[in-house]
Parts: sequence; C-alpha cells; structure tokens
Amino acid sequence: MKAVSGLYLTIIVFLSLAAAAPACSRAAEPLPSTSMHTIAEQYVRLVLAVGLHDPDYVDAYYGPAGWKPTSKSGLDELSTRAQTLSTELKKIPAPTGPMESLRYSYLTQQLSSVAARIAMLKGQRFPFDQESQALYDATAPVQPESHFEEILTALEKRFPGKGSLVDRYDSFRRPFQIPKDRLDRVFQTAIGACRERTMRNIQLPDGESFTVEYVTNKSWSGYNWYQGGFKSLIQVNTDLPIYIDRAVDLACHEGYPGHHVYNALLEKHLVKDRGWTEFTVYPLFSAQSLIAEGTANYGIEVAFPGDERVQYEQQVLFPAAGIDPTRAREYYEVQALVNKLAYAGNEAARRYLNGEIDATQAAAWLEKYALMPHDRAAQRVRFFDQYRSYVINYNLGKDMVSAFVERRAAGDPAKRWQEFAALISSPRLPSGLR
Ligand SMILES: [Zn+2]
Repeated sequence: MKAVSGLYLTIIVFLSLAAAAPACSRAAEPLPSTSMHTIAEQYVRLVLAVGLHDPDYVDAYYGPAGWKPTSKSGLDELSTRAQTLSTELKKIPAPTGPMESLRYSYLTQQLSSVAARIAMLKGQRFPFDQESQALYDATAPVQPESHFEEILTALEKRFPGKGSLVDRYDSFRRPFQIPKDRLDRVFQTAIGACRERTMRNIQLPDGESFTVEYVTNKSWSGYNWYQGGFKSLIQVNTDLPIYIDRAVDLACHEGYPGHHVYNALLEKHLVKDRGWTEFTVYPLFSAQSLIAEGTANYGIEVAFPGDERVQYEQQVLFPAAGIDPTRAREYYEVQALVNKLAYAGNEAARRYLNGEIDATQAAAWLEKYALMPHDRAAQRVRFFDQYRSYVINYNLGKDMVSAFVERRAAGDPAKRWQEFAALISSPRLPSGLR
C-alpha cells in the first residue's frame, strides 16, 4: 500500500512556472504536448506541497529534487492551485491517441483527487462513499449482515464447538504460523517464486530489485516504498503472528507482479520512454491507489492461477516453514471461505467513519463478520483512522481489475499476463475499468 500530503503555491507560482516554459507562454494556442508537460510538472509540485501537510500523502517521489517545496504553503493557497490546474487542463483539447487520452483523463482525475484531499486536510469530512468516489474514483457496494452470515454459517459447520467462531478459527490457524526464525527464509523463497513466474511473462527493466526489512508498530502488515531507478524497499510488519498464506500474498502483492513491478513499469514506459513526469510522484490518497492495490491483489492469482498455488506451497513453502505439508489443501479450503468475508472490512469502515459506531464497536464488528482475532481487529481500526476509505482499494480494486483483465483475456493464461502487464504500464483509471 502507499501514502501522500502537501500543496503548492497559487496562481502566481503557476504563472511564473508556465512562463518558464517558453513554447507554452508565448504561443497564442499552446502546443498540447508542452501544455500537458507544464501541467504535469505543476501537478507534481502540488502533490509534494500537500505532502508537507500530510505525512502519509506522498507514497513515492523520484523526480527532480528541485521540485520539492522549500517551505510550506497554506491549504487555501493549495486549493486554489489545484483548481487553477484543473481549469488549465480543461483548456487543452482532449487528445485522441489511446495512451495520450488515458493520460489526459488520468491527470484530470488525479487533480480532482488532490483537491478532495486538500478539502479533507482543511477539515471537511465526506460520507464514506462520497469520500471514496472523490479520492479513488469508485464506490464499494453495500453488503448487509445477512450476506456475511451465510458464509459464517458455512464456517460454523466447518468448526463446530463452544466459544466464539473467531476463537475456533484462530485455534485452527495456529499450526500454520510461520516461526519467527524462519520468516525471512520463507519470504525470500516466496519472492523468488513470484519473481520467476513474473519474469517468464513480463519484461522487467534491467537492474530492478528490492530489499526487505522487518518492522513493528505499524497499522499495516506490509508496505512497498518505491525509490525510483527500479528499486523498492519492502517492509513487513511483525507485530502480529504471520501465517503461511502471507508469504505468497506479500511476495506477490508488494513485489512480483504487484507494487514493485507496477511502479517499475510506470517508470520505464511512462517516465523514461515518454517523459511523462507526473508519474514520478505517487499521491497515496488518489485514484492511482485503486489500480495499485487492485493489481497487487489480483496479481497473486495471475502468478499462481487455479491449483498452482496449493501445489507450490505444499511442495516448497510448507516444508520451508516447518509446517505439515499434508494439510496445505485443507488450509486453503478454509482460507477460500474466509476470503469471502473480505468486504466485511468495508462495512465496518463505512459505519465507523460515518460515525454510526465507535472504535470498540468497529473492532467487535470485524471480529464477528471478518473473523479477525481481537488484536488484528484493533490494528485494522487503527488503519481506518489513518487511511479511512482507502480500505476499498484492496477488495473492490481486486474485483474491478480481475473483471477487466478476465473479460479481455477470455480464459487464455498467456493473454491474462499480457493484459495485466498492459494495465500496469498505463495510466488507466478505476472508472476506465468498467
Ligand atoms: Zn498494497
């Protein structure tokens, strides 16, 4: 996952910078390419300026160091600046080429997302769905309790007995924890497998690589910090027990073909090959995040389609973790059922952030409907506080990306990789997936 904050100077700065771009300021009718270039640079500077107000906002930046603001601008000023940029962008005729057209729509939406985030930093609170629409260009469907109760009934049958279902599920899972002293070995093995599968299907830029660090005291379980130059830093949070399914999940999601590959391909194809500087910055609370999280989650199934994951884990990862490999299939059958509860997190977040329930009730809701043990539920509520409606990017994002790619691939595994690679090399928006 990712993060941003900070705004930039207002009209005066915009005009002076526009004046610094000769072709743009002097031509009666600005050249579209030059104007887009100028607006792209101003967008980057604006995002970096918002980052000074919000430490989670700028998830990655590898553009010119001189574009970083030297002092903090007021939020009103930054708000005006976002509006001015949107107005300037509208004056440019919409391009007709497929990639140029995606770029134009992307910048339009990203500027709108920045404006919404600035409004939030100024204290405005939107209802959950309105917030996710404004920031991420999407709204998660509402699921009633009865939807989750059907899945819980199936799990009750799988784990009969006394006490709460979440405790029984937790006891079942205990033998599938990765021992701390084997964590790095298991992760490195999973990363190797994800990389090998990705490289067979996607041409990765020369010199790409990442390092893994183990950290504590975070509201997330893993994080990819893209550094530019095709390098990432991946952090894994070890606050809570880590179960065997997290190895492939994290290796694919944060690494291959997830966030690391996504960022590296954007840098290669859009920044280096086309000179589209807006992609040197990644504002976390923006539409880009739904694509990033959706492709990172769906990428797990692209790398390990069908039964391949269970087979691989049984043969390689379970033994590496010292876990009984004969139970791999049983474990993943239960996980498939539990994963159907994924949208329960959206419901808890929606109710909590809309002020209908408090933090204790939100944690209790997660324990009951998402089957999260108490500590994990509490960690998740801290995530809601920090990242708010960002939660929809994981599950809704995955479903939207999956539907988009599967529709185009029509069941052909090679085509699935091609469509996936094309998506993570282009500036497509969530609304453009439909
Ligand atoms: Zn992520």
